[in-house]
Amino acid sequence: ALTTPILEVKDLHVAYGKVEALHGVNLKVGAGQIVTVIGPNGAGKSTMLNAIADALPTTGTMRGSVSLLGEDVASVPVEARVARGMCLVPEKRELFSTMTVEDNLLLGSYRRYRAREKNYADQLDVVFELFPRLKERRKQDAGTLSGGERQMLAVGRALMAKPQLLMLDEPSLGLAPRIVKEIFHIIVRLKETGVAILLVEQNARAALQVADYAYVLETGSVGLEGPASQLANDSKVIDTYLGLA
Ligand code: ATP
Repeated sequence: ALTTPILEVKDLHVAYGKVEALHGVNLKVGAGQIVTVIGPNGAGKSTMLNAIADALPTTGTMRGSVSLLGEDVASVPVEARVARGMCLVPEKRELFSTMTVEDNLLLGSYRRYRAREKNYADQLDVVFELFPRLKERRKQDAGTLSGGERQMLAVGRALMAKPQLLMLDEPSLGLAPRIVKEIFHIIVRLKETGVAILLVEQNARAALQVADYAYVLETGSVGLEGPASQLANDSKVIDTYLGLA
């Protein structure tokens, strides 16, 4: 079908000072899809997400186009990109550890509150249904949570903005295998709620299992792409990324 992709990135270049980290990346996320970007440390995965979200450090400069639902947002600032439906869960999670779980979540709806959206807090129920653990701990400070719960809170906070595109930077990083499984299970449930997902992962095996489509990023360029099930059976991908995982 010829539906407009949720996200389309064309010829994305990013440089830190004189060092180019991305050399012309093209990528698409269709409605209702999970798209994953796998690849080794330092390939430029975080750089790519940060450029898409307008969250590059001040030393980073980009060129190329980023379209959200068919509209070019490359020169639109981060708040306005969120308003148009994209939300990034950064690798560092960036929670407020001395604020409660509930208050961290409400911060995720701050833009909607400022915009006088009547039902800005309604998503709390949606988030608590997805993450019952967060509901149990709603009055606790975020700093008291386990690693897995913190990742859930970071995802929950992003969902408070009611995104159409959720971008996740290494959600499984540093988590125990059992928790990783739970996080990936939640990613699939999120997809079922209709949100499109761009998932950056070093855990290639788990990412390829849940994704519809995948890109392999190698030192700033897409080396390989295709349906996730196809890449999961590609001998080069198996040797390089699935062998030891
Ligand atoms: P990781 O999984 O380790 O985060 P990655 O695939 O996300 O890896 P990036 O963090 O995007 O990779 O890094 C891509 C390249 O850009 C690397 O060579 C890195 O050293 C460089 N880089 C990243 N951030 C900066 C920065 N703020 N200033 C200068 N160079 C940077």
